[in-house]
Amino acid sequence: MSAGNVNYGSPGNRIVDLDKDVVYVCQRCTACCRWPGDVRIEEDEIGRIAGFLGIGEDEFISRYTRLRTNRQGLSLLEKENHECIMLEGNSCRIHEVKPSQCAGFPNKWNFPGWRDVCEAVPVKREDAG
Ligand code: SF4
Ligand code: SF4
Repeated sequence: MSAGNVNYGSPGNRIVDLDKDVVYVCQRCTACCRWPGDVRIEEDEIGRIAGFLGIGEDEFISRYTRLRTNRQGLSLLEKENHECIMLEGNSCRIHEVKPSQCAGFPNKWNFPGWRDVCEAVPVKREDAG
């Protein structure tokens, strides 16, 4: 973890303790696209994202990824301000095929204090659609 930066980590340090009757619905505030830290790309996501961008897998890897902090797999690059490389304004450029790390937060992984930094709204599971 880098000194001076808040780093909320990734599914690698998942702590999930949610009410099973509630699902948290993302409000697209994009805070989680701006946190420092890895945005993990799994092996089976590379081809899907590269295809969506209309480029080959090798080009996708060289242009948009780096090694994860633990050097065990790939992460999306970040901009100098720590935003994810795929964030354009308030939209994700690869929303339709975004990595499972992004799709899974906060319902499949999260961390202590996540409610303080995420605007997702709790909805009763049967109402969530
Ligand atoms: S921080 Fe929460 S509400 Fe904001 S974009 Fe991420 S998941 Fe959605
Ligand atoms: S891939 Fe998209 S959803 Fe995931 S952190 Fe980057 S901009 Fe956000």
